[in-house]
Amino acid sequence: MSGLAAGIRLAMFDKKVLIVEKHHTSGGLNSFYTRNLRKYDVGLHALTNYVPSHIKGSPLAKLLRQLRISREELGLCEQMGSSIKSNGRCLRFNNHFELLESEVAREFPHEVDGFQKLLSFIKNFNELSLDNLEASTVATIKLFIKDPELINMILLPLFYYGSSQENDMDLNQFVIMFKSIFLEGFCKPQEGVRRIIRLLTHKYRMLGGGKLMNCAVKRIIIDKNKAIAIELADGQQVTANTILSSAGAIETQQLCHPTPPIDPTNIGQLSFVEAILSIKTLPRNWGFKDTIIFFNNNKELSYRKPQTMVDEGSGVICFPENYQFLEERLPQEGSIRMTLLANYDLWNNLTPALYRETKEKVLKSLVNVLKEILPGSNQLLEGQLIDTDLFTPLTIKRFTGHMNGAVYGCPHKFRHGQTPYENLFLCGTDQGFLGIVGSILSGISMANLHILKEK
Ligand SMILES: Cc1cc2nc3c(=O)[nH]c(=O)nc-3n(C[C@H](O)[C@H](O)[C@H](O)COP(=O)(O)OP(=O)(O)OC[C@H]3O[C@@H](n4cnc5c(N)ncnc54)[C@H](O)[C@@H]3O)c2cc1C
Repeated sequence: MSGLAAGIRLAMFDKKVLIVEKHHTSGGLNSFYTRNLRKYDVGLHALTNYVPSHIKGSPLAKLLRQLRISREELGLCEQMGSSIKSNGRCLRFNNHFELLESEVAREFPHEVDGFQKLLSFIKNFNELSLDNLEASTVATIKLFIKDPELINMILLPLFYYGSSQENDMDLNQFVIMFKSIFLEGFCKPQEGVRRIIRLLTHKYRMLGGGKLMNCAVKRIIIDKNKAIAIELADGQQVTANTILSSAGAIETQQLCHPTPPIDPTNIGQLSFVEAILSIKTLPRNWGFKDTIIFFNNNKELSYRKPQTMVDEGSGVICFPENYQFLEERLPQEGSIRMTLLANYDLWNNLTPALYRETKEKVLKSLVNVLKEILPGSNQLLEGQLIDTDLFTPLTIKRFTGHMNGAVYGCPHKFRHGQTPYENLFLCGTDQGFLGIVGSILSGISMANLHILKEK
């Protein structure tokens, strides 16, 4: 995503651009596939940063302006509403912040003042300054809110949708996520991620951008302090004045030849499984109206690499059809997706036969977890189930190339996109802007900063 956005931006200013992608489709993890004649999005639960069209100066407006895309082309539909459920308590939120404020006042009346002070801190924070230093979110939030359950409930969605650190999050990232999820909101195109990818690839092609698909970069050849060429899997070399890499910080360093010293403490560890259940009918017809449910059944929120294959204690449930879609275009069938933390090493150590067997076992177990979290869903998840699939940390590694299947990359980011080399820069996840909107903005910012030289 970040690579495509950077490519569009550069081609727009008549730069000669070549995107080199190791898969046959664009979009990294946020891509799509067809299985048993059903179309699945690999990554998309929601686009963050939804604001109505009259709001100027928002990240979404910047993205559209910089890529010269109209809102109509994206065809965004708003969420129906989401919930955070933790240890028997529930906070609902939607694309109108007043709902979350009133929910906090109902569940945590003693924290109304603290929540408002946190809000004012967030609103005054300039999270987009690339010069901000890293800071701990957990330490900062405790300055405003004392009730540990409210802290857990605020952090739960923000961790799952964008923290690369175990049990914490860089403060800049926290503010980005708080604004993009709670103050702005969730939306998506009715056609899912394919609409976004097709729009970006079409735009890039129309601007004359070049693309090599199914073509992995094997090495980045370094001479002194410069990257002088990339070498492809077939040995062919391509030269460029500047290289932007969305492969990840450590992964990019590992591609460099000779390889610079690598910081092993900055290798991402957080990976996930996602169960995808296809259902004969729409969950909303059975009374399930949430778009996303973030759940936590652990006393302490534990957002870390589990010691087991999967941590069933907390996670995300997404109802991909629970958006305000056009009634006449509502699909007949529905689906439920469930995302949980998983241990890459344990999955990676399985033999192929055991891997298949474990996937089946985990899927069964996750259906039982779902039944507990969604009271009354027994019949829906038994009689109505038509197909299931599970992607694991190994799937994530295959699609994104991120070590350990770490979706959100390395814990400590490189906000200027800097690498040890003067003409090689990072964009996307490890530059520090995450998610679809974040990665697109990252591609735009890095292209502007390092090649078009706009601040
Ligand atoms: C279960 C799940 C659900 C998610 N849901 C959402 C969601 O609903 N909304 C949202 O906003 N975000 C979501 N995300 C996060 C989002 O997917 C990422 O933040 C975003 O895709 C990162 O984009 P990126 O540009 O950094 O690149 P990536 O998506 O990591 O892609 C990097 C690209 O580089 C290519 N590549 C790597 N190495 C090489 C090489 N050597 N040669 C050539 N090509 C190479 C890869 O093939 C890939 O195409 C989700 C993540 C997960 C795990």
